[in-house]
Amino acid sequence: MVAVSARAQSVSTLPGITAGLAANSLKADVSFLASDALEGRATPSRGLDIAAEYIAAQFRRAGLEPAGNDGFFQTARYLLVTPKSDGLELTLENGTALPAARNTLAVVEPAAVDLSHAAAVKLTADNAASLGSALGGKVVFVEVPDLARVRSAERQKAADEFNRLRSAAEAGQPALLVLLDPRTNRARETPPQLRETGAPLRSPTLRVFDPAVRAAIAAAEPGPLMMTVSARIPEPSATPAAVRNVVGRLPGSDPALQESFLVISAHYDHLGVGPEGAADRIFNGANDDASGAASVIEIANALAALPEKPKRSILFVTFFGEERGLAGSRYFVAHPVVPLEAVVADINLEQMGRTDDLQGPRLRQFNATGFDFTTLMGPFRQAAEEAGVRLVKDETNSDPFFADSDNLSFAEAGIPCTTLSVTYLFPDYHMPGDEWPKLDYQNMAQVDAAVARGIWMLAEDPQAPRWNPDSAAAARYARVRPH
Ligand SMILES: [Zn+2]
Repeated sequence: MVAVSARAQSVSTLPGITAGLAANSLKADVSFLASDALEGRATPSRGLDIAAEYIAAQFRRAGLEPAGNDGFFQTARYLLVTPKSDGLELTLENGTALPAARNTLAVVEPAAVDLSHAAAVKLTADNAASLGSALGGKVVFVEVPDLARVRSAERQKAADEFNRLRSAAEAGQPALLVLLDPRTNRARETPPQLRETGAPLRSPTLRVFDPAVRAAIAAAEPGPLMMTVSARIPEPSATPAAVRNVVGRLPGSDPALQESFLVISAHYDHLGVGPEGAADRIFNGANDDASGAASVIEIANALAALPEKPKRSILFVTFFGEERGLAGSRYFVAHPVVPLEAVVADINLEQMGRTDDLQGPRLRQFNATGFDFTTLMGPFRQAAEEAGVRLVKDETNSDPFFADSDNLSFAEAGIPCTTLSVTYLFPDYHMPGDEWPKLDYQNMAQVDAAVARGIWMLAEDPQAPRWNPDSAAAARYARVRPH
């Protein structure tokens, strides 16, 4: 019944949505956000700050209400922690000394530690529960599964098992956690990390690629090891950094539904500037994800311009730090600007402009991650039809890519969500060549019009979106927020 009434209204009010989504407006947004002047919008950087100011200015133009904690900004304070690789050491001592080769050590958690002849434990899925309390002050070894050798259907399970084991190891507060990586590639320089100010420190953690060290631990019985370990992680340098999510609100027109919120999101950060030497060092991130941020801006503009506002409130959010482990969306969910229980869904937008997917052209269509995880696809399928485009399911990538963008932060809080995209893998993905002239803005405007329609339908529907109880893959998220 609800869908029928929404469709009836759509005839009178929805032409405005299409009119509000001009290809040239999208091009203006993307060409600025992805310009060389913004230097690839690394988190943190001056280019990122300028992008945030631009997005806030566009939210003002659209007439959104500021919904951050500082006007349109939600400011997060971090330390930028830079590990030092000079002086890294790990040596197994079992009668003779077996030092890890220098270029096989990478810092995962840069916290200083200096151990000499410390007791060591080999932790496995079988002994983690019984040994948990005996790990304090020791060096704990955990083997990383070789995911490249695991059948793709088993990969998620293997990754989950490893994550559980790592969490169990950290809960035991070891002096040092050592991840034994089966790959033999050399350790690369660890990039600086964002650490939320005041957040508890994680255990110092090293990743080791040395085959001799891995073999020595593999040969040992699980549990307390008949060897000692000396190790050193030098004190990292730390500098304060403030970064911002940008948050605008379109208040709902219905007195009951205006206290509940749809989140429409995209990340506005990218990878910054690459190392010296290359002719083009700027990672412009036009499709990834200036196109998503531009879509959030113009969809906000189109919906705010409708003569009759949608019933449910909508939060338009652009995140910092997606390229740094979903930092901005994790921050948003951990420090929500509205009660998290009132957020009914997150519709996240990524890679909306390019149509040259590696699998072939993607014209007048868009994909969704976690296609069967939620009830969200119904409205978007109908909206796509009405806007003359198609919602398609990418059978290979729909499920695995669900965990690869900011929607995951919402999923882990139990909030139904998806990421909508035109392309998944395209030629310049995470390369300096991801530049604004390569986007198809006509196609983008047409797809965004469909997305805006779908959002409008979700905002009109008093029934909140739900997780699909028949989806086994969604069960872990559905458990967090039962209906
Ligand atoms: Zn992205």
